[in-house]
Amino acid sequence: MGNTPLTIPSLGNNFIDYRQRVLGDSFTWNWVRPLSQPQYLVIHHSAGPDNQTVDQIAAYHVNSRGWGGIGYHFVIDQAGKVWYVGDLSTARANVANMNHLVVGICLIGNFTAGRMPTAAQLRSAHLLCAHLLFETPAMSGVNGWEDIVPHNKFTSTACPGDSWNSYRGQIVSPVGTTPSNPSARQAEVAQLYQVVLGREPDQGGLSHYVSSNMSIEQIRKTMTESQEHAQLIASAREMKDLKLRVAEAKNLLTQGVQKLG
Ligand SMILES: [Zn+2]
Repeated sequence: MGNTPLTIPSLGNNFIDYRQRVLGDSFTWNWVRPLSQPQYLVIHHSAGPDNQTVDQIAAYHVNSRGWGGIGYHFVIDQAGKVWYVGDLSTARANVANMNHLVVGICLIGNFTAGRMPTAAQLRSAHLLCAHLLFETPAMSGVNGWEDIVPHNKFTSTACPGDSWNSYRGQIVSPVGTTPSNPSARQAEVAQLYQVVLGREPDQGGLSHYVSSNMSIEQIRKTMTESQEHAQLIASAREMKDLKLRVAEAKNLLTQGVQKLG
């Protein structure tokens, strides 16, 4: 049984915990995994009509494919509603042979031939990913924007559509406009400190950015290109490599013990 409730204040009413109501099993199907195990947030498209519903996708997975539950963890519709459908601590079915390592996020629509997700959809995808990457410490395996990857990174598939390169940037960075209201600007900059640098802002830096005429996008870019950010990512990578090596060593040991036995 996996049960990981989520609260995502930045999404407000756009977040719907639908695990109890969606067709199929959200909690015990598939195997339960530690939250520290996932290494990637994988983006999919539903490849169906724009107005396809979560219930239709779940019915397809359960009734037509015969699965125990919906294959994704989250579905984001074109209005920007984020449906939490498969518990995060269960592996599901969305990337062949990798399901223990991924969080599956499906955007409703078919993003090929120049078709793009809606702005609301991308904004919600951004906020959801930011929450999982930076505000969910238990998910220690996903901790930087580079952990957001398209389905076809791992499998030969058209998913998540050939528009991926055009819309990726709007998931990994905010699409909001720069607020003119100073306290709103201060809050956005403070949030950037958390999201990009993983810390509270220092007073000097905060007032420097708030009083500058840089856009929020420019501030994000500056922070992302800083030495501090590079160090943060490098140490996260090291930690991740270390964990993978420990897991490999454990595996080898287990195999060795089995051979001896
Ligand atoms: Zn996919």
